Amino acid sequence: MSGRVFSVILLPTSECNVACDYCFEHKEPHKLSALLVPLLSKRLLDHMEHEGMEACEIYWQGGEAMIMGAQWFLNAGKVMDEAAAARGKRFIHYLQTNLVSYSDVWKPVIHSMFQGSLGTSMDYPNVHRKLLKGGADSYTTLWTRRLREAQAAGIRVGVIAVLHQASLEIGAEAFYRYYTEELGLEDFQVNTPFPGGPANESENSFILDNAALAKFLTELFDVWMEQGHHKGVALGPFDALIHHFTGETARLPCIWKENCSNQFISVDSKGTVAQCDCWVTSYPEYFFGNVFQEQDLTRMLRTSRARQEFVERPRRLVEEEDCLSCRYLSICHGGCPVRTYSALGTMQAKDPYCEVYKAVFGRAEKYGRQLLRKRALLGATRPVAPEGPGGSTTTAAPAQRLRPEVAAQQPVATTAS
Ligand code: SF4
Ligand code: SF4
Ligand code: SF4
Repeated sequence: MSGRVFSVILLPTSECNVACDYCFEHKEPHKLSALLVPLLSKRLLDHMEHEGMEACEIYWQGGEAMIMGAQWFLNAGKVMDEAAAARGKRFIHYLQTNLVSYSDVWKPVIHSMFQGSLGTSMDYPNVHRKLLKGGADSYTTLWTRRLREAQAAGIRVGVIAVLHQASLEIGAEAFYRYYTEELGLEDFQVNTPFPGGPANESENSFILDNAALAKFLTELFDVWMEQGHHKGVALGPFDALIHHFTGETARLPCIWKENCSNQFISVDSKGTVAQCDCWVTSYPEYFFGNVFQEQDLTRMLRTSRARQEFVERPRRLVEEEDCLSCRYLSICHGGCPVRTYSALGTMQAKDPYCEVYKAVFGRAEKYGRQLLRKRALLGATRPVAPEGPGGSTTTAAPAQRLRPEVAAQQPVATTAS
């Protein structure tokens, strides 16, 4: 069996119950039929068998996934898990939700199907996430109440923050304090925006200046290392970079994978297959096929001309860009195809956030060296804090993040909740 991780970003609906300014989701009222879940399971399991994979991570999101209802999830999870078990395989389910319709009815589903954790999103300051009726402040109030209710039900919650201009203006320190002190989180992550989706008027207002973004992220890195790292606060993707630069096993976001096409696909409620949610919701020219209409997913992926572009991208980047001479090539691999495509109209170029990544990698490398020196001095075998008061470096099991490895690619062009 291959130890390769196979991840499916599954969108059971593109409908949503809120109205974020930056969403480019085409919110049509279509839902994945419960009648099609067995066929979907079969297609995925066949593919796993062909590729010698024993487990598949399913990242449920939308639209807003909770629109499907708790019972729908219980049934779908049962059908999928039983089908997998019958073939000696396993599905591992994760949930990303905007949380606004969370209620106690979800508690047993989340504990049984999603290992007691979920991922959600909140920006700071929140100016773009809005209720259908009511603005951003009402959204923040309701979301915060739901967060508390979920936490009180013993659910571990991981939060994604999408950076925007107001985040940069408020500064790294205040930003960090909001998540750790005001919300009391021990696990959150920052995502950088990109102008995905069909062209629309609001896009440009979400594009951030690279120098300002690099400054914010490196300052946030400093704040986290000073105040949170030694206490076990997980802040992605910085924590994964620290793992990488200290020689530990690192689950880096997909944007820095050798090739995201090796690991991910996304399937929408109609069965459309594409590289990830960003592609399946926005770029029909890059659809790989339809899992309900084509019998063999493995064949679809192997023969799709659209997918071939993803497969070839790393090779083309080292031939055609300056990535080959970059000291961070082995960790970055040229960055994210969809960020590149949405900005440049081609994916065969390096990620437009190149300079931002270099700044963040540089910071991680510096802190990684400090940690290794300190570890060598102490003869420690476990990670140690670089500075600040000593303390445990471990916490309870981290809450889910939106498809941990896809992490940093989220919005502006988000379809994630
Ligand atoms: S976000 Fe970018 S790197 Fe991640 S799966 Fe999509 S295209 Fe690939
Ligand atoms: S940091 Fe820039 S130059 Fe280096 S590998 Fe990434 S995209 Fe290429
Ligand atoms: S970004 Fe997510 S939560 Fe916001 S409107 Fe779009 S699908 Fe809904």
